[in-house]
Amino acid sequence: MQVSRRDFLRVTAGAGAGTAIGGLVGLGATLAPARAQAQELRIRDAKSVPSICPFCSVGCATLIQVKGDRIVNIEGDPRSPHNEGTLCPKGAAIYQLHVNPNRQTKVLHRKPGASGWEVVELEWAMDRVAELTKKTRDDTFIEKLPNGKLVNMTPAIFALGGATLDNEFNHVCQKFWRGIGVVAIENQARI
Ligand code: SF4
Repeated sequence: MQVSRRDFLRVTAGAGAGTAIGGLVGLGATLAPARAQAQELRIRDAKSVPSICPFCSVGCATLIQVKGDRIVNIEGDPRSPHNEGTLCPKGAAIYQLHVNPNRQTKVLHRKPGASGWEVVELEWAMDRVAELTKKTRDDTFIEKLPNGKLVNMTPAIFALGGATLDNEFNHVCQKFWRGIGVVAIENQARI
């Protein structure tokens, strides 16, 4: 398409804080071919591995493109009958779950009364969580209600699952919580 300097300035000025690219788009120019080409270069020679978006119970199908041991892209799988290659904004950002310099990779612990966090060993943290869970459960366990009804529960622990836990993990997790008497169990995936 032909875009005069006057047209370009008119549209970019009209867009206020608009960018030059935004102006071009406003004039009807499409960036789709450039985007498609960049995407094609990114995934050229990559191996595609079918998977599922972990964020919610819709379970949209994805394709994970891998080069060697590196994930280079994640997108919707067009073969899926229910998401047909699309992903919602959360699903479209799954790549950043894996490739993200801000991802926390060490266990941090803040001691009671301390103002800062310190890095601790995973083994130590697991033991500490288990110890506090057991103590809280034992200290607050209710076997029977005043009317004699057997409940075997603790009202002192609340289990909150994360959005990126998959179905299998959630299933095992809720079995564990119910097994020790926790009844307040919630999860974004609504299992
Ligand atoms: S979070 Fe979005 S992309 Fe992921 S399964 Fe749910 S609807 Fe699909």
